[in-house]
Amino acid sequence: MSGVITHHVPDALLAAYAAGNLSHAFSVVVASHVSMCPQCRAGLEAHRAVGGVLLEDTETVAVSSGLKDDILSMLDAPFIPEPVYERSGVYPGPVMQALKGRAPRWKTLGMGVRQDILSKDKSGSVRLLHIQPGQAVPDHGHNGMELTLVLQGSFSDETGQFGVGDLEIADEDLEHTPIADDGGACICLAATDARLRFNAIVPRLLQPVFRI
Ligand code: ZN
Ligand code: ZN
Repeated sequence: MSGVITHHVPDALLAAYAAGNLSHAFSVVVASHVSMCPQCRAGLEAHRAVGGVLLEDTETVAVSSGLKDDILSMLDAPFIPEPVYERSGVYPGPVMQALKGRAPRWKTLGMGVRQDILSKDKSGSVRLLHIQPGQAVPDHGHNGMELTLVLQGSFSDETGQFGVGDLEIADEDLEHTPIADDGGACICLAATDARLRFNAIVPRLLQPVFRI
């Protein structure tokens, strides 16, 4: 891999993040990509500038300055992770924040795949995945959306190759088998908003155990 990011956050997703409309899990992934990517950082700043202008316009129509201050303070509230431009090893700032200073606690999923669930609630989950070279995350479909950001190494699936900083977006229409490329373990940050649908019977039986 050349080290150049080729798979970015789509504009609609960046806009949703800028507006605070993404779940915590997806926000961690978007904030992590933006932390690694000057192009999406510029895009995010543009969205925030536009959002600020819209809010100013609203005030001139009907909103009292007190309400406007309330809205602004809500927008400033830290309920979504922000991009952080310091990093620790392969982990961007938002991942370090999610780890709360600890090292990853890898739990084996079998077949060369390990995970550390960073957070999980009704809206979704975000986890680190550690995949040995040549090993695959089991073939699966998705009930919702899945965001996968590469932090170390690279993987390939039916749609292409993803290196450090690249973001893959999978939805109901994609069934894929991500396989870590040769040349070192692949570490990914992955967020989902619904349970994955595994195609093979064994992974499906183990799904409650793995909490994927
Ligand atoms: Zn980007
Ligand atoms: Zn997937």
